[in-house]
Order: sequence, then structure tokens, then C-alpha cells
Amino acid sequence: GRGPGSDVVVRSRLTVVSGPSGVGKSSVVAELRLLHPDVYFSVSATTRPPRPGEVDGMHYHFVDHAEFERMVEAGELLEHAEYAGNHYGTPRGPVEVALAEGRPAVLEIELQGARQVRRAMPEAFLVMLVPPTWETLVSRLTGRGTEDEDVVARRLAVAKDELAAEAEFDAVVVNADVRTAAEELLTWVLPGTSTRDTT
Ligand code: 5GP
Repeated sequence: GRGPGSDVVVRSRLTVVSGPSGVGKSSVVAELRLLHPDVYFSVSATTRPPRPGEVDGMHYHFVDHAEFERMVEAGELLEHAEYAGNHYGTPRGPVEVALAEGRPAVLEIELQGARQVRRAMPEAFLVMLVPPTWETLVSRLTGRGTEDEDVVARRLAVAKDELAAEAEFDAVVVNADVRTAAEELLTWVLPGTSTRDTT
């Protein structure tokens, strides 16, 4: 019969972390990495040029359009999407290897990609990172001070759509504080610490 704890999920899990631009996804995922080095963090392929400080093979696999297209055609990407004029995709192989080795895996991707993962791998767990308030997101995007007003306005419009997709996610984590959000995210990432009602 079902003994104590039999409802606990013990196999490794694929967790998708999504959320609007400016919510602090990268910071929370970086903190999560420090908290739990055994978790596999997917390195995406992108056609976006590297930003200062970004290392090929570490932050992204920086590829040209031809190579990205080849990866898509060869079925090497678990999901892929266009975002702000650039292509992004998750290499399938490393994720499958990590899961087969029993390591939890984390993808930090935008909404279109999250939806593709949901269809391809229904057992994946989708977490949306949200700001404490809409005003927080507005001030974070405006406060970067690096982008034109119309760029900020466009990002805010996309952010509104992304936040509206909250109901498609299995869990929502509020990023009021990076450390706290990372700790909460970790409870969803690690097997055996949380369950999903699949009934
Ligand atoms: P950035 O250019 O700022 O690094 O990333 C832009 C957006 O693309 C972010 O929302 C990021 O989460 C998303 N992203 C990064 N890698 C992937 C990927 O492999 N697939 C998808 N669908 N989105 C990605």
C-alpha cells in the first residue's frame, strides 16, 4: 500500500524557470547555482552577440544563423524561440544526459519556449518568477537606464503578456529578495522536496 511519503516524487525533474524581462531571473538562477551545485543548468544556443563578460560555452553557445538553423533541422533543440530579434534554443542532449544521471535540470527560458517544453515533456515542472508588484518591474526596467524609452515600453508590453500566462505554470515564485526566491525555487527543483498534484 501507500506508506508514509509514498506521494513524494523521487525521480529527477526538469524545471523550467520563466518570467518577464527585468524580474531578476538570471540573479535568482545564479543564486540557485550557489545553493546547489549538483543541479544541471542548461546552456542555451543563441544568435545574439555576446555581451561584455559573457563567455562562449558558459553563458551561452554563441552561434551564427546557419548553425542555429542546422541545430533546429537536426532536431538538436528541445525548444527554440525568437526573442527581441534573436534566436534562442535549449540543446536537447545535455538535458537528457543530466536527467538520465539522476541530476535535476533547470532551464531559464522565455514563455514561448516554456510552452514548447510543456508540450514535449508534460512531466516538466514550470515555475514563473514574478515581481512583488507591477511598479517594481517598471522601476527595474526603467532604472537600468541603458535602454531607450521605446525599448522599455516594448519590454513592459511583453512583460504584461508574460505575467498573464501565470495560470499555465505549476508554481509562482515572487522575487522580492534574491536569496529567498532562490531558496523557494530550490524546493521545486530538488526531487523529494515537493510534489505536484497530477490527479
Ligand atoms: P538575454 O538575451 O537577455 O540573455 O535573454 C533574453 C530572453 O531569452 C530571456 O528571457 C531568457 O530567459 C530567454 N532565453 C535564454 N535562453 C533561452 C532558450 O534556450 N530558449 C528560450 N526559449 N528562451 C531563452
